Amino acid sequence: MKVIIIGCGPAGLFAGFKLAGKCEVLILDKGPSLEERIKDKSNLLHGEGGAGLFSDGKLNFSPEIGNNLAELIGYSKLSELINEVESIFRKYNIKTKEINRKKAHELEVLAVQNGMKYLPIRQAHVGSDHLPEVISKLSNDLRKKGVEFIFNTEVEEIRKNSIITTKKEEFKFDKLLIAPGRSGARWLEKIVKEKRMKYIYNPVDIGVRVEVPALIMEEICEINWDPKVHIRTPTYDDFVRTFCVSPYGYVVKEENEKYCLVNGHSWKDRKSSNTNFAFLVKVQLTEPLENTNLYGESIAIQATTIGGNKPILQRLGDLRRGRRSTWSRLEKSHVKPTLTDVTPGDIAMALPYRFVRDIIEGLDILNKLIPGVADDGTLLYATEIKFHGLRVLTNEFLRTSIPEIYVAGDGAGLSRGIVGAAVSGLLAAEGILKD
Ligand SMILES: Cc1cc2nc3c(=O)[nH]c(=O)nc-3n(C[C@H](O)[C@H](O)[C@H](O)COP(=O)(O)OP(=O)(O)OC[C@H]3O[C@@H](n4cnc5c(N)ncnc54)[C@H](O)[C@@H]3O)c2cc1C
Repeated sequence: MKVIIIGCGPAGLFAGFKLAGKCEVLILDKGPSLEERIKDKSNLLHGEGGAGLFSDGKLNFSPEIGNNLAELIGYSKLSELINEVESIFRKYNIKTKEINRKKAHELEVLAVQNGMKYLPIRQAHVGSDHLPEVISKLSNDLRKKGVEFIFNTEVEEIRKNSIITTKKEEFKFDKLLIAPGRSGARWLEKIVKEKRMKYIYNPVDIGVRVEVPALIMEEICEINWDPKVHIRTPTYDDFVRTFCVSPYGYVVKEENEKYCLVNGHSWKDRKSSNTNFAFLVKVQLTEPLENTNLYGESIAIQATTIGGNKPILQRLGDLRRGRRSTWSRLEKSHVKPTLTDVTPGDIAMALPYRFVRDIIEGLDILNKLIPGVADDGTLLYATEIKFHGLRVLTNEFLRTSIPEIYVAGDGAGLSRGIVGAAVSGLLAAEGILKD
């Protein structure tokens, strides 16, 4: 049986891991090999290792974080697969941090007393500077088991007779696993609509990257490197959460074709004196517009326009007072920005009122769990958006309505992180082997 996997991110690689030695496997990616990516670090999203390669490598081993799979396979099977991913990472020397249960419980109580939910979870932190080594070992093991990789090759079409086409070649498959990540979500959307596969739109997460002195988050990050807090805001009853906390980390600019966004990460061996995290409002649309991609993109474009093609940076105090930040006002903050390729400005000019309100109210609530987080000097970078696009509807093994085609990972709307993507890759591989 010949299996072709589109996408060499965690979803594709972990599927390859499970299929290796059991069938003929070819992994195609439009981006470069790991070796090329290490030489030229500009390619953040494409190639061997996927978007995860230069990421922070914060691994969340929890069924509640980073995936939508429980509703398909239930918590027990999901936990089993998460344990499998954890044991694969362990082979490559990634160790999960033990949680201080007593301290975690104290925080859980404090959170719930103040209208929040704190989720202590098993986590590991690889660090942006170590992840390439892990991925390199993993893909070399796959090569040894006969898995073939082809890079710098973008799949364009999927034809009726089990053939995929690239600019130069065609490849025939028995089973196809499409795992193109967030960056390939629009292409997958096109395929899904062309092939009339079934789908729904996932919610989109829209918000800002918050940057504070690392000291104020030291205690909570000691328990969990990436603490997860869920909040309902008073005015709109919206769901707001902390996401991708990067202790001693750096805020980064994420360039896209039509707009720029922000993100954040930490290095294992290089530290700033700040901690940053995404603070995101979940938006699900019903009518007249269900397409959360379009809505998120229009906000991203508006924010990029008002920021003069750069992210907007504002002090929380300036946002509260209804005035823009300037470099001289920013200098008064205790926090020195780790990303300076920004425009000091007014986030209220970029984001709709509802988001601004949610962010201010949400930070005020979070301040009861993490005192200092809603200080006037806190820095906010706009915009951070997590598109989860459309979710391809599948059976419990991620087989689409076309029997020889499977999907996995962030691009298919099934995951939102490395572990979730890896789990979905394992699940699809299990389905392929069963077939
Ligand atoms: C800066 C940054 C920091 C992050 N930090 C973390 C973190 O700390 N922890 C965490 O869990 N997650 C993190 N993430 C998210 C994480 O990287 C993703 O959730 C994960 O990589 C998704 O895996 P995936 O396999 O679904 O897709 P991806 O990793 O995006 O891989 C998809 C691959 O498919 C390829 N592709 C797309 N379309 C085609 C096509 N048509 N033909 C051929 N190839 C194609 C792409 O080039 C890409 O290499 C971060 C992401 C970024 C950008």
